[in-house]
Amino acid sequence: MRNKKILDKSINVKSDHSCVGCGVCQAVCPAGAISLGLDKDGFYKAHVDESKCMNCGRCQEVCSKFPEKFPPPREIPKKSYVGYYRTEEIRWPSSSGGFATALAETAIENGYRVIGAELDYKTFKLEHVVIDKKENLSRIRGSKYFQSRFQDILSRINKNGKYVVIGTPCQIGALRKVITGKKEYEDVILVDLYCAGVLGRNAVDKFVDYMKEINKSGIKIMNMRDKTSSWLLWGMKVIFKDGKQYYRNKYVDPLLYVFRTRQALQDACLECDTYKNGSYADLRLRDAWGFDPKKINEDFKKGLSQVLVYTDKGEELFSKAKNKIFCREVEFLAVKDFGYPRKRNYQLLELLRTNSGLVSIVNIYKRSLSIRDKFRHKLSYFCATDFYISFFKRFEKVLLALPKPVKKFLKKLLREW
Ligand SMILES: Cc1cc2nc3c(=O)[nH]c(=O)nc-3n(C[C@H](O)[C@H](O)[C@H](O)COP(=O)(O)OP(=O)(O)OC[C@H]3O[C@@H](n4cnc5c(N)ncnc54)[C@H](O)[C@@H]3O)c2cc1C
Ligand code: SF4
Ligand code: SF4
Ligand code: SF4
Repeated sequence: MRNKKILDKSINVKSDHSCVGCGVCQAVCPAGAISLGLDKDGFYKAHVDESKCMNCGRCQEVCSKFPEKFPPPREIPKKSYVGYYRTEEIRWPSSSGGFATALAETAIENGYRVIGAELDYKTFKLEHVVIDKKENLSRIRGSKYFQSRFQDILSRINKNGKYVVIGTPCQIGALRKVITGKKEYEDVILVDLYCAGVLGRNAVDKFVDYMKEINKSGIKIMNMRDKTSSWLLWGMKVIFKDGKQYYRNKYVDPLLYVFRTRQALQDACLECDTYKNGSYADLRLRDAWGFDPKKINEDFKKGLSQVLVYTDKGEELFSKAKNKIFCREVEFLAVKDFGYPRKRNYQLLELLRTNSGLVSIVNIYKRSLSIRDKFRHKLSYFCATDFYISFFKRFEKVLLALPKPVKKFLKKLLREW
């Protein structure tokens, strides 16, 4: 009888619980033994065909499940800026202040190609694509809060070419592990997005079905960060092929509601402290929530970006982009914990696997909430309204002047309630 192969160097040694679905293991496997498929909740997970595996260990070297194989990411950036794209034409459709487009345009002007996540409206799949013309950058603009297909990334990057790649920290971290020390990837600049987590296909497919019930003509454009109400009270806007529109703010739209519960994200997102506290990228982008209280009305309506500069390469690109944006340097404040729940809601995930519609699933979920959670939901909605903003503006000086321990106590009270 033949002995069973010992495959202690493949990614299979650890369960797929912490797989982020980046697919980079598939790209580096010399035996073509790895494939990526969707799990029962619609998240990409890697699978090894053990009959093909040669136990070379290449996949472990790039995989997030084995953080000990690579030096930890940088935690403290060299510099940090807050600002926005100069023209409304770009700032308005961007998720925060449009820094991503400023960087991407600058990159293209300097001979780079840009790789970002584009939503395919035929399949509703998200995929990283290459853009080499500024007028095509709208294809990748805006945050889409579900997993993008990243496994073809290495075949998209021509060796010795100049590229800027934008993605979630786990995708960018995996790519960094592959390209580090390789001369042929010297001109690749990596940009990641501070990331709270991603939804799986189950939730997205249900949303697409819900849209079909509302309007049969089909979706032309879907914007998960629409600012019609304001940047603070962002929402979901869908433009249908017949010109009609759907808009609900983030407290009402069922897909954004599920996203914002943070309880139907992929497993790995709940334990993603490495990527939340540090970055393998040259630059990190995020929403600049909480900055510029003096201009609160204007900026809370239109959006502000923050960039964290980690490397010289990143600094060079950002400096060149400065003629497209208004920005000012700010002190870096680490985001340690937003107080998001660190548990998945198995009832919600189970419901997303059934044939039930998204709206009825959300209603069942809402009914199951405790009175405390219902109150918290209402309170956070109030905090995003114009009324609250004008109230804050009026009493801004008083609120900001409160002693630190009182502010800390109030914050704790709000978070825990
Ligand atoms: C899944 C996800 C979660 C996020 N969570 C937070 C958060 O909790 N707090 C916070 O401050 N910021 C978060 N961000 C970042 C934020 O939403 C903005 O992307 C960021 O502020 C840049 O905005 P912008 O206006 O400069 O660019 P935008 O024009 O909005 O461009 C964003 C870029 O993100 C890329 N992208 C979009 N969706 C995906 C995706 N699913 N996977 C990979 N790349 C994608 C696009 O290629 C595009 O280039 C998140 C982003 C994503 C994608
Ligand atoms: S490299 Fe990425 S896709 Fe492959 S097992 Fe690791 S986390 Fe999963
Ligand atoms: S150990 Fe090597 S051959 Fe086996 S799955 Fe990993 S990369 Fe492929
Ligand atoms: S939260 Fe972490 S694991 Fe989840 S998509 Fe974002 S970077 Fe990846």
